[in-house]
Amino acid sequence: MTEISSIQTAIADVRNRIDAACKRSGRNPDEVTLIAVSKTMPVEAIREAMVCDVIEFGENRPQELRDKQAMITEPLHWHMIGSLQTNKLKYVIGKTVLIHSVDSLHLAEEIEKASQKNKLITEILLEINIAGETSKHGINPEELENIVRAVAVLPHIKVRGLMTVAPYTENAEENRIYFRKMKQLMVDINLKNIDNITMDMLSMGMTGDYEIAIEEGATLVRVGTGIFGHRFYPSKE
Ligand SMILES: *Cc1c(COP(=O)(O)O)cnc(C)c1O
Repeated sequence: MTEISSIQTAIADVRNRIDAACKRSGRNPDEVTLIAVSKTMPVEAIREAMVCDVIEFGENRPQELRDKQAMITEPLHWHMIGSLQTNKLKYVIGKTVLIHSVDSLHLAEEIEKASQKNKLITEILLEINIAGETSKHGINPEELENIVRAVAVLPHIKVRGLMTVAPYTENAEENRIYFRKMKQLMVDINLKNIDNITMDMLSMGMTGDYEIAIEEGATLVRVGTGIFGHRFYPSKE
């Protein structure tokens, strides 16, 4: 008999909650991808999640991503969700399916250069500071259109959509307004018919608020604690 680990139980619970949130909001669960945020967690924890057919994993530190990839040879889909310094791009370009955390034109231009060098096209999301928090990374919503227009002409980058880290709150309902604003931002950008820009991905919602995010249109939810339990050492945002 195989023992069912707490990680496996947690994944089943999260999947049920995702399905329920989809049902409440009349959405198809196939539209929502669960990303297991494995930052700070050992590869054994990732392997536990893989038993449940999880293949999407989120990491926020490029070197940690590199180290884990060296230990796990199965073809997983790795997502870079943390702030990126340009000197760390070599660990990320061609090694992740999506970079969620592009928060400046400068970073996009460096991703363009590295992608060109590696002869590939990198899919990205633009990170938005939707609540205007001074402590947070992200593009100010008012600056988004200009940045999108500038990134749209970079041939080795494909902008797939937007990402946000909503404010920390005990009451997830308080973040509904921000998730709604994110969806509206994406709709508005698409209506501008910018060449090379059709956004279809919205990365929002974490352990505390992913169900609300799904009700408001999230297509990617990033769940760490809710799957792996508490992180025992701090991970830089
Ligand atoms: C750590 C992290 C998460 C997961 O947070 P939990 O609250 O543990 O689910 C999601 N997104 C980003 C960008 C993170 O850094």
